[in-house]
Amino acid sequence: MIPILDSKRQYAKIGAEVEKAVCEVLRSGSYILGPNVKALESELAKYIGCNYTVALNSGTDALHLALRALDIGKGDEVITTAFTFVATTESIEIVGATPVFCDINPDTFNIDADKIESLITPHTKAIMPVHLYGQPCEMDKIMDIAKRHNLYVIEDCCQAIGAEYKGQKVGTFGDIGCYSFYPTKNLGGMGDGGLITVNSENLKNRIVALRNHGGAIRYHHDEIGVNSRLDEIQAAILRVKLNYIDEWNKSRREHAATYNKLFSECSDIVTPKELHDTYCVYHQYTVKIPNRDNIHKMLQEAGIGAMLYYPIPLHMQKVHAHLGYKMGDLPITEKNTECVISLPMFPELTIEEQKTVASTLIECIEKSKALA
Ligand SMILES: *Cc1c(COP(=O)(O)O)cnc(C)c1O
Repeated sequence: MIPILDSKRQYAKIGAEVEKAVCEVLRSGSYILGPNVKALESELAKYIGCNYTVALNSGTDALHLALRALDIGKGDEVITTAFTFVATTESIEIVGATPVFCDINPDTFNIDADKIESLITPHTKAIMPVHLYGQPCEMDKIMDIAKRHNLYVIEDCCQAIGAEYKGQKVGTFGDIGCYSFYPTKNLGGMGDGGLITVNSENLKNRIVALRNHGGAIRYHHDEIGVNSRLDEIQAAILRVKLNYIDEWNKSRREHAATYNKLFSECSDIVTPKELHDTYCVYHQYTVKIPNRDNIHKMLQEAGIGAMLYYPIPLHMQKVHAHLGYKMGDLPITEKNTECVISLPMFPELTIEEQKTVASTLIECIEKSKALA
């Protein structure tokens, strides 16, 4: 059995350090918005390269509060992708705004920057690009469109901590960047967590208030906020793990290069492409294959933990049915949804395991061709 992700292997390496950090919090008596959250916020601002970060309860809250902080709500449109996790568009609906779906680039799986402009209306307030699978979007083009049309940009970086576009980390191009520390992410806590990156002090202050019931001063509430504070325990764990993130991302990239080589002879497998001058962090290693559903089943039977991210594009989800999209509206998104499959990818994955994954996948493709 080769799982898509094995968190226990990571814990085996850093468990002692994590346990020490957690015990210190337990003994400290300070469990909410204490010294670890403060330190994590400044360490991550330095790491990502922005003026401020605000630690939150989840990536979903980061997206939601980003929209709130920019006063995006009822009657406003946000241009984004349907080829992502539902939290991206859920946050847009939570604030009462309308997601407008833009098709994707077939090579990068990310929003097709060349198709954004035709979707802009007088109601458009923001563009929400998602750096899917750890691959940066074309931020030059997106920022250029945003500037010309006076739109906000909120980057969904939940899968892309450490990823760079032209030497600059994602989450620092737009007005706000949103990160998740869900346990399976490249920098994952042992529970939920999220973060906002921001350069504007005013926006930072607004998000700090929204995170804690809408008031900057205790028991003075200026607007309706939420409870989205990150726990000290999670912050302490994340501070330990932050020391390893570059090493882990480097391993993921090496594994991606190894997979690419192992698949280079098999013309049925389309391996992921990287944009020029980007640093992808391979949250997922996702290939395109024929007969995907059959082969997915065969891989599962063979003990390979392959997954489909995501099996239904968001414009076809029941939750967004009221938007009125139909099959055929986003042809490239739909086509990719049918043929993508994500293979085991985590820093501790071994070369032997990668060889097994590769040979099993190639075998399954041959078998399914013989059956057809
Ligand atoms: C994980 C993820 C989120 C949500 O993060 P949570 O911390 O689980 O709330 C949002 N967008 C994308 C693209 C994600 O992968």
